[in-house]
Amino acid sequence: MTARLIDGNALSRHIRAEVAQRAGALKERGMTPGLAVLQVGDNAASRVYVRNKVKACHDHGLHSVLESYPASMTEAELLARVRALNADPAIHGILVQLPLPEHIDAFKVIESIAAAKDVDGFHVASAGTLMIGQPGFRPCTPYGCMKMLAAIGCDPKGKHAVVIGRSNIVGKPMAMLLLQANATVTLCHSATPDLGHHTRQADIVVAAVGKRNVLTADMVKPGAVVIDVGMNRDEHGKLCGDVDFAGVRPVAGWITPVPGGVGPMTITMLLMNTVESAEQHAR
Ligand code: NAP
Repeated sequence: MTARLIDGNALSRHIRAEVAQRAGALKERGMTPGLAVLQVGDNAASRVYVRNKVKACHDHGLHSVLESYPASMTEAELLARVRALNADPAIHGILVQLPLPEHIDAFKVIESIAAAKDVDGFHVASAGTLMIGQPGFRPCTPYGCMKMLAAIGCDPKGKHAVVIGRSNIVGKPMAMLLLQANATVTLCHSATPDLGHHTRQADIVVAAVGKRNVLTADMVKPGAVVIDVGMNRDEHGKLCGDVDFAGVRPVAGWITPVPGGVGPMTITMLLMNTVESAEQHAR
């Protein structure tokens, strides 16, 4: 068997067309969905991420504001900017690009974002709605992974899903979303002994670790759906995931490539969250 590819670029294009259409419908009612992106300091990777987010907004009819500040910005100054954006009626989503400089408490800053504009889904209010199964903003990466499962017709109900990694932005919300979709979920992490024992029983595996080859062919049940969130560099500097793609592809039923898998979905779901926020504000 050779696993079929879950094409994140193609699915993104499809969802982004819906984003543009819904943004257009709001515009006809006099409201353009608006996203504010705040970046502090000069992290090269962050600069690329924020530029891509702002460009994606422009390309799909959303208004966006990029605010870049020097690393010397104080926490008080950043909190004041977030408060101003909370009150700005042209802004429906606020995103503070992480990491922040060490002298700024990232938790405090995220908590200062109005829950109704938390399109990254990192606020404890958003985490709380996910935990208790109420509507709310879902973190973009796991939200995108759920869209990928839906796109291939994989209903998690009754399936065993294994998530590797328990970060607040990927692993934990991923596990909660799968649980909410009626999967039986196992959440693994760095202290899990014998990871393969768990993954071999999984119908769905999501790898969100940040280490190459965490999942190899001998750890995968034949026919399983494998979603690779990881973003790493191989010995040639080429982008790769957590999964040994060449080894796992002949065993799995479906697999996401890196690049071209989960990556494009993350920004797409940010656009979707921003449009949904604007729709809620328009009600
Ligand atoms: P993170 O905060 O560093 O979390 C990594 C998780 O992996 C931790 O829970 C850690 O366990 C676990 N882990 C580490 N080594 C392990 C091992 N050998 N076996 C099992 N679990 C292990 O990372 P993150 O922010 O969740 O991101 C994970 C990866 O996804 C990174 O490569 C990141 O770049 C990528 N990512 C991609 C996108 C995208 O759009 N494609 C978005 C976000 C993140 P402990 O908790 O025990 O330390």
